Amino acid sequence: MAEYIKVIDVSKCTGCRGCQLACKQWNQMPARQTKNNGTYQNPPDLQWNTWTLIRFQEVADKDGLKWLFRKDGCMHCTDAACVKVCPSGALYHTEYGTVGLNQDKCIGCKECIAACPFDIPRWNRATDRIYKCDLCLSRIQADLNPACVKACPTGALTFGEKKAMTKAAYKRAEELGGNATVYGDKFVDGTHVLYVLPEKVDVYEKLPKKPSVPASIMSRRPSSSGRTS
Ligand code: SF4
Ligand code: SF4
Ligand code: SF4
Repeated sequence: MAEYIKVIDVSKCTGCRGCQLACKQWNQMPARQTKNNGTYQNPPDLQWNTWTLIRFQEVADKDGLKWLFRKDGCMHCTDAACVKVCPSGALYHTEYGTVGLNQDKCIGCKECIAACPFDIPRWNRATDRIYKCDLCLSRIQADLNPACVKACPTGALTFGEKKAMTKAAYKRAEELGGNATVYGDKFVDGTHVLYVLPEKVDVYEKLPKKPSVPASIMSRRPSSSGRTS
């Protein structure tokens, strides 16, 4: 089976949050009351019912103030710390190289929260289970694009076969020039979500510079036996 990845071209994102909404809708995640906290960042962080979040950031440079919008969510690591530590097999590698989650198997131990280098899984007290993006596995299996990709009106989100998409991401970074770079293919054996970042990596808040699997779990093997659930 071919590996698939999603590319997030940050330079094309307008911060419309269509992807955030489409993700909630497709996955039937309930809305929750929000409050005006004086910033555009709402909700303030990923949460059990928000698997993808547009992070709003205001930065100053020689041209003045400007906005950066970054879609945050599971990176679908090849060397996935969450899969390595999950004792129940709830987290697993799919046939597409992405990381799936079988919630019926989750025992709420929260090991994956501690292990994830990107701070992604979220726990719901009411269900005692973990939640995160599964890259719309059921849609991929039906030959459909992930819901966020389908909803994006600007072409900032694209999805396809790994090799071609990685090549396209590098071509785009080259077109953008300056500090533009590709983020994701050089650590944790490569992620199945790549960013094209127009600015240097360290400009983006909550984006680890050199994410890695914690040393204490480096040698662990995934508890699930196969690549699929
Ligand atoms: S980003 Fe975190 S939750 Fe997602 S696959 Fe990697 S380790 Fe697992
Ligand atoms: S791939 Fe699916 S689950 Fe993941 S962020 Fe996009 S819409 Fe949500
Ligand atoms: S739908 Fe596209 S343009 Fe809108 S916030 Fe999401 S990634 Fe950005």
